[in-house]
Formats: sequence, C-alpha cells, structure tokens
Amino acid sequence: MKRIGLLTSGGDAPGMNAAIRAVVRTAIYYGMEVFGVERGYAGLIEGQLIPMEMRSVSNIVQCGGTRLRSARCMEMLTKEGQEKAVETIKKNGIEGLVVIGGDGSFRGAKILSEQYGIPTIGIPGTIDNDLEYTDYTLGFDTAVNTCLDIINKLRDTMTSHERVSVVEVMGRHCGDIALYSGIASGAEIIVVPEIEFSIEDIVERIKRSRANGKHSNIILIAEGVMSAEKFATKLQELTSYDVRPTCIGHVQRGGSPSMADRMLAAQFGNRAVRLLKDGIGNRVVGIRDNKIIDMDIIEAVSMKKTFDRELYETLQMISM
Ligand code: ATP
Repeated sequence: MKRIGLLTSGGDAPGMNAAIRAVVRTAIYYGMEVFGVERGYAGLIEGQLIPMEMRSVSNIVQCGGTRLRSARCMEMLTKEGQEKAVETIKKNGIEGLVVIGGDGSFRGAKILSEQYGIPTIGIPGTIDNDLEYTDYTLGFDTAVNTCLDIINKLRDTMTSHERVSVVEVMGRHCGDIALYSGIASGAEIIVVPEIEFSIEDIVERIKRSRANGKHSNIILIAEGVMSAEKFATKLQELTSYDVRPTCIGHVQRGGSPSMADRMLAAQFGNRAVRLLKDGIGNRVVGIRDNKIIDMDIIEAVSMKKTFDRELYETLQMISM
C-alpha cells in the first residue's frame, strides 16, 4: 500500500492529535503517503484532503482537540453519501483508510470495508470508553483526570459549607466516566445508566455518612440518567442538606492528553499503519490486558458494552 487516508470523526477526544502524528510518522517511515481528511466523513464526502508531511504533525502530540477537525455527518448514513466518500477515496488513489472515532465512526468504517472493499482500520478515539472490545479508548483517561480536577475543587468548597454536590459527567449510555471518576475522587455515590437507582437509598447513604462524621457528599451522575440540576432538585425535596448541582460539560473533551492517552495514541496509530502496510484492512485496534490488539471490525462493532459491577461494588464498599 502506497497511499493512505486518515480522518477523525464523531466527538473529539484528547489524544486524537497524538494518534494523527503516530499514523503520519509511521506511514512516512514505511515510505507511504498520507492524506489527512478534514471534518471526518463530511470532508471525505466533499473531498477536503490535505497532504500530510513529516512536519505537518510537529508540535501536536500535547494538544487537545483534533487538527483535522471532526464532524457528525448525516450524509454518511445514506447510500449517496457513502458513494461520494468512496469516489473521493478512489479519485485520489487512496488504498486504505484510518478512522479515529467512536462507535458511530466505526459503523461508517465498517460500511466502507464491507460494502465497498476499502481496507479500513479503526482507532478507538472517544472519551466515553463505551467500546467492549478494548479495555480503554483514547481520551478516556484524560477526561477522567479533568473530572477529578474539578471534583477535588468542589470537595473543598462543599466541605467548608457542609453541602451535597451533584456533579454531571458525560456518558449517555455508558457510566464509565462516572465510575472511574467516582472511585478515584472518593465520591460517595454514582448514578449510571446501567444500574437502577433509588433516591430514597441515596438519601439514606447521605444520612449515614453524615452520622459517621462526613461534612460533605459528592454524587456523580452520568448525563444519560438525567441532568445534575434535575437530580439535585429531586434530592433537595427529600433532605434538609444544601444540594448544589454542577455540570462539567464540554471541558471533559478538551485539554492536553495524559501520559496514558499519549501512549495509547502512539501504539494505536503505529499498529493501524502496520496493518495497512501488510495489506490488512477491516480491523480495529485496541488494548486488552495491557497488550495492543487488533480485531475484526464487524465483530468489534457488534459487541455490547458491559458495565464493571465489581468496580461499582468496590466504590460502594470504600466510599462512605
Ligand atoms: P462519540 O463516541 O464521541 O460519540 P462516535 O464516532 O460514536 O463518537 P457518532 O456521532 O455516533 O460519533 O458517529 C460519527 C459519524 O460516523 C456520524 O456523524 C456519521 O457520519 C458516521 N456514522 C455513524 N453511524 C453510522 C452508520 N450506521 N453508517 C454510516 N456512518 C455512520
């Protein structure tokens, strides 16, 4: 393979730039040309390509966001859109494609592979950690660290005023950001889409912790359950404690990637290009048991994300 394309798609995630760099540098190492596609599938459909050189990716390993920009593109869901994307690929002599994105982006990649025979490799770039086949997705670690920074600050002020803090983190269907941020920050309670909650039980837990000498409480709620504002209002109706909502919001998506995410980016990008170099497509890369892996894209996309109940129980036992 002599010429490959590269795009970032869906919600952006810290570490996408480091992955772009790893893909470009590895490809150049193997004597391959790389075209960066701007604005994800939208740019692929519209033919927005830029040649990527060694120095195109200088000084970006530490930057959040994505230099190629990203987009949600409804046209890619249609046959016409997909055909236009394939036309761009063929017209520019692109022989393989690297797609950095989440579950939705992988579905687009799967169609290009399966229905149009374009060798495609997916790199899991999403803060949500919602892909079952990989232990971690790119950007998750940084997003959780951003949450921790904010929760630490909230804990200071909540303790001074003996308040209950309800903090909304991202996660429409997957509670991993709440789970990991909860354990690592010492939050007393997490409310996630995967597990039913009882507000009465939560009030009981708060009362028990106060009786045990606690001066504040942190409750993390994933956005998919309800907003922090709505949850705080419900809770306030049932308790005399002062309840304050905070939504962390898009801050979670930004910032310089952590060491863990830069390491993933380097290894994911490198593996993706090595696969294409060997003429292998239709796969996704990931990490399992601390080893970089790759697997069939169709299989990966069909796997249902499971929630780590053991970690959830750990939180319940140690945070009180
Ligand atoms: P995140 O996890 O951050 O939300 P994502 O990749 O899952 O990232 P989506 O918005 O679901 O984000 O998908 C990104 C893009 O992938 C969509 O805007 C669309 O262009 C393409 N896409 C999603 N689903 C499909 C599909 N079933 N077929 C073809 N293309 C798709």
